Amino acid sequence: MSVTTESAAQQTLHRVFGYEAFRGEQGAVIDHVVDGGDAVVLMPTGGGKSLCYQIPALVRPGTGVVISPLIALMQDQVDALRALGVRAGFMNSTQDFDERRSMEAQFLAGELDVLYLAPERLRLDSTLSLLARGEISVFAIDEAHCVAQWGHDFRPDYLALSVLGERWPGVPRIALTATATDATHQEITQRLGMPEARHFVASFDRPNIQYRIVGKSDPKKQLLTFLKEEHAGDAGIVYCLSRNSTEKTAEYLCRNGIEAVPYHAGLDASTRAAHQSRFLREEGLVVVATIAFGMGIDKPDVRFVAHLDLPKSVEGYYQETGRAGRDGAPSTAWMAYGLQDVVQQRKLIQGGEGDEAFRRRAASHLDSMLALCETVQCRRAQLLTYFGQEPGEQTCGNCDTCLSPPETWDGTVVAQKLLSTVVRLKRERNQKFGAGQIIDILLGRRTAKVIQFDHDQLSVFGIGEELAEAEWRGVVRQLLAQGLLAVEGEYGTLVLTEESGSVLGREREVLLRKEPKRPTTRSGGSGERKAKSAAAVADLPAEAVPVFEALRAWRGATAKELGLPAYVIFHDATLREIAALRPATLAELGGVSGLGEKKLATYGEGVLEVLAGLGDTAPDAAPEPQPQASAPKPEPRPEASPAPMPPARTPVQDADPEFGWDEEPPEFD
Ligand code: ADP
Ligand code: ZN
Repeated sequence: MSVTTESAAQQTLHRVFGYEAFRGEQGAVIDHVVDGGDAVVLMPTGGGKSLCYQIPALVRPGTGVVISPLIALMQDQVDALRALGVRAGFMNSTQDFDERRSMEAQFLAGELDVLYLAPERLRLDSTLSLLARGEISVFAIDEAHCVAQWGHDFRPDYLALSVLGERWPGVPRIALTATATDATHQEITQRLGMPEARHFVASFDRPNIQYRIVGKSDPKKQLLTFLKEEHAGDAGIVYCLSRNSTEKTAEYLCRNGIEAVPYHAGLDASTRAAHQSRFLREEGLVVVATIAFGMGIDKPDVRFVAHLDLPKSVEGYYQETGRAGRDGAPSTAWMAYGLQDVVQQRKLIQGGEGDEAFRRRAASHLDSMLALCETVQCRRAQLLTYFGQEPGEQTCGNCDTCLSPPETWDGTVVAQKLLSTVVRLKRERNQKFGAGQIIDILLGRRTAKVIQFDHDQLSVFGIGEELAEAEWRGVVRQLLAQGLLAVEGEYGTLVLTEESGSVLGREREVLLRKEPKRPTTRSGGSGERKAKSAAAVADLPAEAVPVFEALRAWRGATAKELGLPAYVIFHDATLREIAALRPATLAELGGVSGLGEKKLATYGEGVLEVLAGLGDTAPDAAPEPQPQASAPKPEPRPEASPAPMPPARTPVQDADPEFGWDEEPPEFD
């Protein structure tokens, strides 16, 4: 391509970022903003939103001001830009007076290309008057969904951002978010006062993420197997609902040879910061977290996101799983989901704060999430449809239901048996019970609690012996998901819904999903490459793997020396390309994607040295990954035999104690 026909934006893309071409809508967004237009940009995580404001900031005269709620990440974002030779800075409450002063001076002197600002700073007159004294090229409002009041990340300070359009009518504004729902989209446009903005809505598909949802039996062990078989040595995030279970799970993983740290809002700020920083800086660390972790974490090589508990909504699920695979390499979104999740979430909604309308909305969010869990169709197609986007294909070939389609079966009769049991308890005894007791009755088990309540005298006692306990739990779960059964009260007792009658009256069939017997795993097989980071070397020719590992070791050492996250130096994708190409000169190296001017100048020689040091074959040069610390065996746990019944409670309480908060749910499917 001849340089003369290149736009300034394209030149910047090549020279500063070292990228070949714009991706998707990037080019159109950037042209529009460079020309002074406002833009609202909806792009999935990993879609490349940052370039959409960074390039206009570099091309237009003045400083690009980026409003971001992610104070803890500003330093890293600025470091990453500085590594590219961009003059970047930030202003937030973590700085002392001198640092802030110096930043102000640089801004006023026109020495900053990009300035990150926390939204609360814009409430201060001093900040506004500072901005008024400098030259601003563009305002970027990152994580713009934070302005949406009913969204999950609402920040009151974002409401004040409408002032930007009023005070700086001549400066283009670009609002960016990865939240896809139409309602949020509308709210952003309205609250930020951007009626004239052009809207850019990218596809929300994340083709490199494999979606899988498995039945929960022994979640920690299932997680461990998943990690060991498919993601040994990979960085990833495990989401849990409660603080306690993040800690227990992290401990469990450590005991079993996987380095993991917990993260939740109850940890003190310095521990949180330390764990986040380790996740960003180290290779292959697992963070076990509540949803307090993750927004804005732009680590590109998160290879998996695992859920041990059900997210509250499809939006939440999409956001959280979206943190995997920003670099476009194969990644897994894995979730273990069981009956207890449904019960727990329903209880949370019923017992939670908020008015009736709020509860109804929460319940409908949950219903959509359950529908995604129980679907027999392509999960990706269902996700995209949820966000109002046409799935290109009805089957994606990269989700569990596509990879091994679940069978359905006619569950009408078993549903009737279960619902009748609920009815009998209510009519004949005026009692309500949770799933555990009802299943014991169906299975004809004379447990202490069954005997205590004379439930072996009921006519339904033992009528459900055709299914195993785990299968019954699956039935309960699916009936709950289909709204044919409901959960009530603190103890999660089962009750009928308006719809239940149609099943009992034989007016309606119940189709149930059969759990696939064989666990689905990543296509292409997971067995061969357990020791090394499996996904990182995917697609590399065998002889390039040791080269890649050597480059990775060099990158790790360099990052440590400079105190930077490894990916700020080079992404895996860049290292992979170098390993496959094995360039011998700086000029050849400069052709690799992700190597702009500055990085070539800073690291070029170092990379060439590593390559030269490997010689021709380099059989021994690659450092073997550290063997995983041999950990004590996990405490043995009975595989098949059900856990002993918890002690019966007093009749009034009528409780299923297995629905406790942080208790392990061993008996649940
Ligand atoms: P988002 O903010 O939308 O989640 P990022 O801006 O962090 O996404 O970009 C995701 C990844 O894609 C980053 O690693 C970035 O360097 C890379 N990237 C962005 N645009 C391009 C491009 N045009 N060519 C190659 N890589 C790109
Ligand atoms: Zn699919």
